[in-house]
Amino acid sequence: MKYKRILLKLSGEALMGDKSYGIDPSRLEQYAQEIKKVASQGVQMAIVIGGGNIFRGGQSERIGIDRVQGDHMGMLATLINGMALQSALEKIGVFTRLLSAIPINQVCEPFIRRRAVRHLEKGRVVIFGAGTGNPYFTTDSAASLRAIEIEADVVLKGTRVDGIYTADPEKNPDAKRYVNVSFEEVFNKGLNVMDMTAFTLCKENNLPIVVFDMNIPGNLLKLVQGEEVGTLVTM
Ligand code: UDP
Repeated sequence: MKYKRILLKLSGEALMGDKSYGIDPSRLEQYAQEIKKVASQGVQMAIVIGGGNIFRGGQSERIGIDRVQGDHMGMLATLINGMALQSALEKIGVFTRLLSAIPINQVCEPFIRRRAVRHLEKGRVVIFGAGTGNPYFTTDSAASLRAIEIEADVVLKGTRVDGIYTADPEKNPDAKRYVNVSFEEVFNKGLNVMDMTAFTLCKENNLPIVVFDMNIPGNLLKLVQGEEVGTLVTM
């Protein structure tokens, strides 16, 4: 295995599948299977899941809800997704723990770094919910932060596209996919990888990022085994 401990970032939107809101059960099951394939190889896996399929803080003011309140709603949405993913994983025999940045003790454990690491060492898939616990951040930032805290080897950003392109491939047919790209080039060319806060955290802590297509079955396992999948961002 190329990586021993990984942090997988999944967006909430990805869980919608073809729906326009909420959770698509077949997509959820598919992701659980992909995660199981990797976890059963002994790779230590942590997951940060977004909440955009349910609520985004950025949309709150449009509907008359204060931004900070909206961000808290978004963070709670990530917990709902985390609970759904936990359930889907447990159903297929994967041991998991859901750790929340906002304590909700009746539902899951609070985030405690040492405890998260201990769970990973015991082979449990750790799902981090409620983002960073702070408004004005994103779950991409939560993914970078948690990955650094648990000393993950890499952040794997599972998306609907198969990597980072020289231009938007949906608009420009000549756009080419990078196999490898440096943090510097991503920054200088303004390539779309993660929001700037999340990206800078990775860059400053020399934490590699892989952007890859999570919807292709087997992709996640291939990537972790060292096959060339998606785009790798490194120093
Ligand atoms: N959020 C936040 N702080 C965090 C992470 C998330 O306030 O540390 C809120 C924010 O409002 C965001 C929402 O939770 O819009 C859902 O997260 P995100 O948009 O990152 O989800 P994704 O786009 O990955 O589905």
